[in-house]
Amino acid sequence: MSDCVFCRIVAGELPARVRASSPDALAFDDIAPQAPVHVLIVPKAHHRDVPGMTAADPGLAAELIGLAAEVAAATGIAEPGYRLIANTGPGGGQTVFHAHLHLLGGTRLNWPG
Ligand code: 5GP
Repeated sequence: MSDCVFCRIVAGELPARVRASSPDALAFDDIAPQAPVHVLIVPKAHHRDVPGMTAADPGLAAELIGLAAEVAAATGIAEPGYRLIANTGPGGGQTVFHAHLHLLGGTRLNWPG
């Protein structure tokens, strides 16, 4: 989708700091990081949100989570741990309607908030 910012990053039309990729997923730094490590993991194909993506292609959810774990290991946050978030819908805080996981870490994350 030409009007989708993450599709444009996947296509190389917009710059991003790419951390890792897999056959069907890409991981790149969030433009407005909320933690020392804040990486977005997106499917290369356009899906509106994570539940929609998973319904269409369940294996893709596993691929995104696996790629997130790889990035966590490579960025040194696998220990003591990290957070994976899928904001879903406007009420859930989703602002970019191309499915993505947020990988956050590198500091002590409290819950909730
Ligand atoms: P959401 O609010 O949909 O869960 O998360 C969207 C995320 O995308 C936000 O954290 C926002 O900072 C990030 N974002 C929005 N536009 C861009 C962009 O052009 N490049 C990158 N790298 N991140 C973006």
